[in-house]
Amino acid sequence: GSVASTVVQRNPMFSTINSDDLIYFEKILGVKKVIQDHEELQTANTDWMHKYKGSSKLMLQPENATELSQILEYCNSRRLAVVPQGGNTGLVGGSVPVFDEIIINTRRMNSIIFFDKVSGVLVCEAGCILENLISFLDKEGFIMPLDLGAKGSCQIGGNISTNAGGLRLVRYGSLHGTVLGLEVVLANGSVIDMLGTLRKDNTGYDLKHLFIGSEGSLAIITKVSILTSPKLSSVNIAFLACQDYISCQKLLFQAKRRLGEILSAFEFLDAQAMNLVLHHLDGARNPLPSAIYNFYVLIETTGSNESNDKEKLEAFLVHAMESSLVSDGALAQDYSQATSFWHIREGIPEALMKAGAVYKYDLSLPVEKMYDLVEEMRIRLGAAANVVGYGHLGDGNLHLNVSAPQYDDAILAQIEPFVYEWTSRHRGSISAEHGLGLMKAEKIYYSKSSETVQLMASIKKILDPNGILNPYKVIPSSLVS
Ligand code: FAD
Repeated sequence: GSVASTVVQRNPMFSTINSDDLIYFEKILGVKKVIQDHEELQTANTDWMHKYKGSSKLMLQPENATELSQILEYCNSRRLAVVPQGGNTGLVGGSVPVFDEIIINTRRMNSIIFFDKVSGVLVCEAGCILENLISFLDKEGFIMPLDLGAKGSCQIGGNISTNAGGLRLVRYGSLHGTVLGLEVVLANGSVIDMLGTLRKDNTGYDLKHLFIGSEGSLAIITKVSILTSPKLSSVNIAFLACQDYISCQKLLFQAKRRLGEILSAFEFLDAQAMNLVLHHLDGARNPLPSAIYNFYVLIETTGSNESNDKEKLEAFLVHAMESSLVSDGALAQDYSQATSFWHIREGIPEALMKAGAVYKYDLSLPVEKMYDLVEEMRIRLGAAANVVGYGHLGDGNLHLNVSAPQYDDAILAQIEPFVYEWTSRHRGSISAEHGLGLMKAEKIYYSKSSETVQLMASIKKILDPNGILNPYKVIPSSLVS
């Protein structure tokens, strides 16, 4: 009954699980890591949006690379397809089976292995939950280079497999910069140790980059080495209102110049997103309740000198008010107010979920064009759906969301392929940070040339010749034999 299985067909090359398979898995893992419980499988078969649903009868939870290696070697020889699963917060249907693929869940690989205060290098297992890493580092006086609304459930291995962007990318850059090393297990069971902790290492091809953002299609990540940053003492958060989109852009331009090195987040949401949050999210309060504005911008600064940072931010805000870029604004006075500002921005996906069915598009676009798409979509859909725009404006990343009472083919036909064609025409990307998963595997050509996709398929063939790793995802089915 999934949205997806109507589109793709089960690959008949894959075997189905039999009782000998179960006996083997129980022998190498022990019974408690071989899960056949109906309820647990129901949850693991269903994605975060309740949009994609598989029918897997088996979930395995290896505790280390050795166990995983045995699992994969066996699955490869038996041609049993698998889906790697971390926190299952992915938004493109990549983390759940499409049919009966075995779910390989990484939650038991959750130890911190090593932390070096001098270099800031953290080495841990792939199943560590992001929020646990954030808390661990906090005690050491450090922060993770990434942060996202799903931090309470998502795992660092899942983050790296999706090349997650999140709320701090504008300051700390992408995971391609901060991930220093990986350990991965290939489809044939080989454990590949690329777990370097060096910032500089030009000895040949830097293969770890292949696995960052490969969405479990090339290998399963088991260990991670990542560069963390010192936790700086002064953090300020401003919640601002803009009357039009051009003001948001000018504000970004000014923020990059006037706040410079202390700018650590620049997020935006439109009035429709704000309304959804206020209606559906417990405890959400509008920081600027005196009027309705078309756009809201959340700006965070992080620096080392409280008085200098405050002075900079205040000068920036005065300038923004005087030049009428900003119509209203509030500066968080304490930790709880700061949290409540972030709660609004981070709560948008949850509010959208609660509002009904949601069509999600995660696009990279030139900042000046970004909001035109939201407006065009509103005109196309009229009263049939609520069109919401928000995202990481500082990185040119729009989250365009269409919210409707239920999934409806007539609505979908108004959105696609229009949204992909529009993005392609403006030389954007149809996936800024969520990945392709199942949702966009067949759409890859809107953002990549056919030669590039062909090369991707060749690399996949080398690393996973039987195609057992996360089938139906990332690479278009026509290129998978
Ligand atoms: P999963 O959802 O379990 O898996 C995601 C993909 O990675 C799947 O294809 C899976 O097969 C593969 N995978 C997982 N673990 C491994 C592994 N160890 N080895 C190989 N492959 C693996 N994303 C952003 O980029 N930025 C955001 O700001 C952001 N905000 C979000 C806010 C909310 C409320 C929610 C629900 C999601 C958000 N996301 C965001 C999307 C999602 O959280 C990220 O994609 C996240 O990185 C997924 O991590 P996960 O552990 O849940 O992975």
